[in-house]
Formats: sequence, structure tokens, C-alpha cells
Amino acid sequence: MGIASGRGLTASARARAIEASASMALDARAKALKAAGQPIISFGVGEPDFPTPEPIKQAANAALADDATHYTTVSGDPVLRKLVAERTEETTGVPFAWNQVIATSGAKEALFIAMQVLCEQGDEVLLPAPYWVSYAEQAKMAGATVVPIETRSPDWKLTPEDLRRHLTPRSRALVLCTPSNPTGAVYSDAELAALAETIADNDIATIVDEIYARISYVPVGRWLRAAPQQADRSFIVDGVSKAYAMTGWRLGWLVGPKELMEMASAVQSHLTSHPSSVTQRAATFALQNNAAVETAVDEMVGIFRQRRDAIVAGLSAIDGVSCPPPDGAFYVFPDVRGLFGRPLGPNGRVVQSSAQLAAYLLDEALVVCVPGEAFGTPGFVRFSYALAMDQLEEGVARVQTALRAG
Ligand code: PMP
Repeated sequence: MGIASGRGLTASARARAIEASASMALDARAKALKAAGQPIISFGVGEPDFPTPEPIKQAANAALADDATHYTTVSGDPVLRKLVAERTEETTGVPFAWNQVIATSGAKEALFIAMQVLCEQGDEVLLPAPYWVSYAEQAKMAGATVVPIETRSPDWKLTPEDLRRHLTPRSRALVLCTPSNPTGAVYSDAELAALAETIADNDIATIVDEIYARISYVPVGRWLRAAPQQADRSFIVDGVSKAYAMTGWRLGWLVGPKELMEMASAVQSHLTSHPSSVTQRAATFALQNNAAVETAVDEMVGIFRQRRDAIVAGLSAIDGVSCPPPDGAFYVFPDVRGLFGRPLGPNGRVVQSSAQLAAYLLDEALVVCVPGEAFGTPGFVRFSYALAMDQLEEGVARVQTALRAG
């Protein structure tokens, strides 16, 4: 009977253990509702709404015209990798060579490879919560056990004391995300130095996700500038997705100690080989400190800041919601626990969790946001403000109506 036998296939235990990305699922649902003609306003998206700056697109067109459409060196063109090494050296003061860098298909692949290189079965990966959910699922895919470490509102930063309390002989990696998705928290050099001090005597690697480093309203601390002695046990992850509004192009990078990067390159050689050749050429252009490109990015950051102030003001005006202004990225992560258990909006609906609240806002206000459950921190919701100001204002007004005491 072959294919038609109807017995179906059982997926591996490893695959069954993976939870699909909640924010991507929500985004898909919002897109479907929108396609069906519903006036959805999505605060769920994790990407800049701006177009990729024009000169970068032209660099990609030139790459096509030059027939740069074949395999590149495994792990990326050395020219691009050298630019990344120089940039990492500029921000940290630590010297890096081009072969300590691999170009990846988005920062997501860089993180995946780092986990594969580092983790043995049963190793512990420490995740300050709330955390971007792919860290947890990628750690599980690498056989590791996730150890969440709760951080607290409003600053949402891992403290040396909390880190120390979670260290065990199985601790293998600490993941830091600064500026943070979902909280927007930005660590200073001093805070990073204190964390580095805490793990100085432990055999633990640090993976620092700096994908939002270009989008910050305060100076961004740098792990290796604060703790250069950690250079031989740290990985830095970044990419062009958020900074240059290039999410769909899929280009990130992983920077780390030379011996481990050789293994990272070997892993990638069996996975994707390298990111798209055309994308690499566009990213190379973006990283060549082109004044027009950097001005376009500065403008985007200025607009994000205005939107941040508008959404913070709008959500803070709701009784039961606390929304302190975050320092970076393009998310707010308000506390909504004050809304639970009391009638809301015109129909007096009662919700008891942030997951129920997000579902209610979609039904009642046609507004998408992501519940804190998706980041390991119930009681909060994430709103992305990567949407045009008129949409943002209309969406906040709908949320205010839906959450008014009923
Ligand atoms: N890290 C964080 C914290 C993110 O929010 C994202 C994107 N949502 C990524 C990594 C992945 O970035 P990329 O699109 O470059 O894979």
C-alpha cells in the first residue's frame, strides 16, 4: 500500500518536544484575519516596518548583475566576515580575526549553531526570564536543560545574586540579550562586568545576543568591553535584520573563540553552508560604514523613540496597566495583572491571565499583542511599536476602550 497505508508517521521525541514560536503563530493568525478583510492592528510583529535603505537594495541589484549567484566560501565571504570582525573589535576593544566570524542565515541560525557547539545532553542553559522563546527551544534541540532565572519589573535585569544562586556544576551557558526582547532592558558595562565577575571561576560560556544593539535610546553596554577576560569563552550574536530593516534577507553572524568557531563552521557546512550570496553582498555594503545608510538607521531609531513615548503614554493611561519606558529595542512589556478578575470594556469581560487578555484584545479590539507566557513571564504582554504612528494611535485607542473598567 505504501504511501496510502494510512498509518501515518510518528515524529521523533526530539521534534515533539519543540514548541512552535508563539509570536510567529500569532503573526500568522493576524495576517490571515487581515487577508480576510478584518481591520487588524498588529503589535505582535518583531521587525521594523521601514523598507530596507535604498543603497542596500541597489547593492543587491548590482550583485545580481555581477552574477554573484553561486556558492560563496562556507560560512560566508571573507570580506563580509572581516567587516564583522572589525566592527566587533570597534565595539569591544578585543581583537578579532575574520575566521572567528561565520555569516549565518539570520541571528537565529547563529544562536542555533552556538548551542550545538556548546551543549552536551543534560547541560544547563541559563536564561534570564522573560526570554526570547527560541533560546529555550534551541537549547532543548541541543539536548540541554533550560534553567530560567526570573528577573523583576521594571528594570528586568539579571543580578549577580540571582545568577549565583542558579549556578551548578552542569551550568554550561548563559544567554544574555541586550537590548532585550521582550523587555527592552539595556545592560550597562558596569552591570555586565558584575555578571562576568560572578562566573569568573565557572566553566561556563556566555552567548550575548546583540541583535537590537543599534536600536537603543541609551548607550549600550558591551559584554567583551566590560569583561575582555571572557573573550575565549563568549559568543557574540548580531546581524542586519533589525538594524538595517533586513529581516527577510536572512543574515546574521556568530563571533567567538577561534577553535570553537572552526567547529561552528563545520556545523554550518552541513546545515546551510552559508547565507544567500546576494544577501551577503547587500550586508557587506551595509557594514561598510556608508554614511547614507547610517543616517537612514539613525532616522529609524528617532522614529522608534517617538513611538515608544506615544505607546508608553497611551498604555500608562489605562487603569490597571503599568508601562514603564524601556531603554531599547522596539517593544514595551507592560504589567497587566491589575486588570485580572474585573469586568473589562463594553461587555464586562473578565480575564484571569495575560494569555486570556491577548485573546480578548484580538476578539474585542482586533489588536494583536503577545502574552508574557510566550516569554516565560505571565502577567505581562508584549507590544511591538514597529508600526506607523497613525496605526499605533488607533490601536492604543482601541485597547483603551477594550480595557476600560466595565
Ligand atoms: N534574537 C532576538 C532577541 C530576536 O528578537 C530575533 C528576531 N525576532 C532574533 C534573534 C533573530 O533574528 P534574525 O531575524 O536575524 O534571525
